[in-house]
Amino acid sequence: MSVTVVNPATEERIAELEQAGVDETDAAVARAKEAFPAWRDVAPNDRARLLRRLATLVEEHGEELARIESQNVGKPISGARAEIGMVANVFHFYAGAVEKHYGETIPVAGGVDVTFREPLGVVGLIVPWNFPLNISSWKLGPALACGNTVVLKPAELTPLSALRLAELVLEAGIPEGVVNVLVGKGSVVGARLVEHPDVAKIGFTGSTEVGRGIMQAAAGTIKRVTLELGGKSANVIFEDADLEAAAASAPYAVFDNAGQDCCARSRILVQRSVYDRFAELLVEATRDVRVGDPADDATEMGPLISAQHRETVASFVNGDVLFSGETPSGPGYWFPATLVEASNEDRIAREEVFGPVAALIPFEDEADAVRQANDTPYGLSGSIWTRDGARALRVARAIDTGVLSVNSNSSVRHSTPFGGFKQSGFGRELGMHALESYSEIKNVYIAT
Ligand code: NAD
Repeated sequence: MSVTVVNPATEERIAELEQAGVDETDAAVARAKEAFPAWRDVAPNDRARLLRRLATLVEEHGEELARIESQNVGKPISGARAEIGMVANVFHFYAGAVEKHYGETIPVAGGVDVTFREPLGVVGLIVPWNFPLNISSWKLGPALACGNTVVLKPAELTPLSALRLAELVLEAGIPEGVVNVLVGKGSVVGARLVEHPDVAKIGFTGSTEVGRGIMQAAAGTIKRVTLELGGKSANVIFEDADLEAAAASAPYAVFDNAGQDCCARSRILVQRSVYDRFAELLVEATRDVRVGDPADDATEMGPLISAQHRETVASFVNGDVLFSGETPSGPGYWFPATLVEASNEDRIAREEVFGPVAALIPFEDEADAVRQANDTPYGLSGSIWTRDGARALRVARAIDTGVLSVNSNSSVRHSTPFGGFKQSGFGRELGMHALESYSEIKNVYIAT
């Protein structure tokens, strides 16, 4: 059985790959297990050096990796370049983190108590198709820095950048068996990694539905899991905000990556007193989003990942459409940038669309804004736009979500923790926080 990899902007086949099954998964886990003792014992300084070499190779091959990602996901090349830049930054960061992941000494009676940060062993990394290499690096960086070996399973639709990275890993001098990439189905390769007794932990990013199944299946071996799942984030715009700036930025908080972004601010909550003015500005700004050939430097939005996904996205658009943009004619899984007026009870405000569709929802006052922002099973990201600093902090503390920005729509930085509340998952990626979930604390008491 092989996997056909398609360019979503042209519908052309770009690769035909062998698909791994259960036997190949077991073999990859065995290779990772064999490589573990030697990798764990690499001197911290040398492990850091190897990760830094990998970061440099990613930089040197940045354009090549960005083109692979752009063609395989249909994402605009400018965005793909930024993502690969982040991948290099992530490896640089974790190269620097290797020697700063300290243990503790704890005051105790009759002796000395020390803690060690031990690697877990073999970790399984399962990632989605929307930011293939970026999200892989968020897991690989801390996993390798802590001394684990890994089996990485990219999404079936987008395996190409991970396969290229695996070659760069070897070129960097990281030993064979430390990083293993498997192309295969989630229900086969992914499921086998989750149940495999020699896999100590699963780092998963994907849908809440699959994440729930992974959490259940991991119980069989008391496997550690971290879950980065779906989102339905709110972009909260108060009447005292810089409305022009908020409206100019809001489209890119939903339509970047054609809305296939777990952090998409797909609920735009606007105070009723400025709702009409904001809606006008938002429509104008959305009209300016440049949709087209992902290979063009000026393009801001490409197609969706697949025909099937386009059908799912389309099923959400049946209410009051405020604006629907243009798309190229011809092949490609295109879907227009779409603004819909809704209430927080509508399906479009409750479920993750994962496409370029935003719901505009009015609110009355601060308490109502917080209530509506929190009225969702998710809690991944969000934004607050106001000129009142105290209000920004009050609302930031009141919204149950893992990553917020004030007067900005950014979510991820290589040095700061990223992850969800509620059904958006648990565990933190990026920054020093990610090291916690790729290591165990060992406590040792020495009687003196
Ligand atoms: P998905 O859950 O369908 O698949 C994710 C990965 O899990 C893929 O590699 C898939 O092959 C694998 N998988 C599928 N079934 C499996 C099983 N039974 N056992 C083990 N692995 C299995 O998600 P997707 O469609 O690829 O990605 C979109 C989803 O990912 C969205 O819900 C989005 O919000 C979420 N996402 C979350 C974050 C985050 O950081 N919170 C980031 C990006 C995407």
